[in-house]
Amino acid sequence: MTRALTPAELQLHRNLAVASRILSINGHDDFHQGQVSARAPGAAEFWIKRSMIGFDEACPDDMVLGHVDPAQPVHRDAPPELPLHQAVYAARPDVGAIVHSHAPHTLVFGATELELRPLSHDGACFQGRLGRFDETSQTILSIDVGAAVARALGDGMAVLLKNHGGLIIGSSLRQAVVLAIVLERACQLQLLAESTGKPYAASSVADVEGKQDYIYSGVSLKSYWDHAVRRARRVHAEVATWK
Ligand SMILES: [Zn+2]
Repeated sequence: MTRALTPAELQLHRNLAVASRILSINGHDDFHQGQVSARAPGAAEFWIKRSMIGFDEACPDDMVLGHVDPAQPVHRDAPPELPLHQAVYAARPDVGAIVHSHAPHTLVFGATELELRPLSHDGACFQGRLGRFDETSQTILSIDVGAAVARALGDGMAVLLKNHGGLIIGSSLRQAVVLAIVLERACQLQLLAESTGKPYAASSVADVEGKQDYIYSGVSLKSYWDHAVRRARRVHAEVATWK
């Protein structure tokens, strides 16, 4: 970086570092793999956790600039899966933040043929909003493959990357992080139910609509984020110093 960071950018770096720690606490670690990124709405640039740094250890200084346009120079510390973020931001101007992780239950669920059912509040959140990508299970290193993931996402909220992990979007960083936690839990609970080998109930269409409106409303998402931040400050003491 040659220019000084704006106060808004410094705040976004802190929020991305807090988001990283929250994802770690909620089971999204896979060594240093996985990324979280965020941008101002519709911006041509975004900030992303740099390569080789895990969710569990990321700090505000670990965020690097990425360009939505793949023809722009790539920061030397950008993560290899930068094209995944570039392609989704290009396809979805409404997206303000992206989480990509190898969270275990999301990964295992994505390897099955199962449809995510509204078994829990968590599963209800993703009804009609979850895509699947199965063209490759490789790390996503090219803009063409990133664009294919964006097509699988469509106008949804998340996509299961077969034998790889998940990608979750939000209009805000808060929303993307909370939904990443919700998706992992939804997959975990359904896998648990499936493992019983017994039939199990799911919410009605009317209940799903009600849950999507109430449990995952903007006010609720903010309260979940605030709770997750308080927990991160207790678990990772340095988070409380990032002000
Ligand atoms: Zn990956």
